[in-house]
Amino acid sequence: MDQFFWKGKEWFVKRDELIDLRFSGNKLRKLYPLLQTDPKEFSTLISFGGAQSNAMLSIAYLCDLKGWEFIYYVKKMPKWLKDAPSGNLKLALELGMKIVEIPHLEFYDHINRVRSNISEDAVFVPQGGACKLAKEGVRILAEEILSWKRENGIDSFSVATPSGTGTTALYLRQYLPKEISVVTTPVVGDRDTLISQWKSLEPDGENLPEILGNLPKHPFAKPKKEYLDVWASLKDAGIEFDLVYAPKMWLELLDSYNTLKKPILYVHSGGVIGNISQIEQYRYKGFL
Ligand SMILES: *Cc1c(COP(=O)(O)O)cnc(C)c1O
Repeated sequence: MDQFFWKGKEWFVKRDELIDLRFSGNKLRKLYPLLQTDPKEFSTLISFGGAQSNAMLSIAYLCDLKGWEFIYYVKKMPKWLKDAPSGNLKLALELGMKIVEIPHLEFYDHINRVRSNISEDAVFVPQGGACKLAKEGVRILAEEILSWKRENGIDSFSVATPSGTGTTALYLRQYLPKEISVVTTPVVGDRDTLISQWKSLEPDGENLPEILGNLPKHPFAKPKKEYLDVWASLKDAGIEFDLVYAPKMWLELLDSYNTLKKPILYVHSGGVIGNISQIEQYRYKGFL
């Protein structure tokens, strides 16, 4: 847990990005049960999602460690990316990931067929690791936060983490006691998208994280000057965060600062390797 000063305020950062540099912090948490699995149990892991996804790269490392074949479904990729893979995609391919492109219109039908015909020696991981499997690792993260609370005698505070699938925030909420606020912001889609994702993970879940949503919705991973500025200013203050999720969460935290329980503990879930391709995007758009 690092103490961190930024914008004249004190914050705490859970440095989950440093646990194992190959994995995005919360992907490591989510994949924890698979990391504990005997390699002989499966021969293949199947997943799907974006071509620069942090989850994809983490799974590629997992499969490399276990000797499992990794088959990853993506929507048809742009030609420039196919011709010259960069960032997370390049690293995952080097780790032996097999990528399968599916036309946009057939994508989810195809994934559903793959999922229902999966063989016994294969394991299916939904996009972004959004599944019950993720619970165990997030529970351990919650335990670590609770030991920090006890060691420092802090009664109440806020835990902040940005949401893609919302899995990390949801299970943190479930495993942390009420006096701790769990706040998040949707980075993929909007408030409704996030809530429906939570409902699909835990249909009976009533204990949901608090959503901070003052900023306008913005297309996932699309460069935005304000995001770059906040990212650079955090980096100057001493910590490099990811460029896709973190900037929006930090902007929302500043915006709601006065009403949030303090101190604020930010869970840094890594994704810093993905900054390589994000910075390329910023450069391409002329922001850099
Ligand atoms: C994947 C990821 C998230 C989103 O996690 P979810 O559990 O899908 O909400 C947030 N931050 C970083 C850096 C990530 O890689």
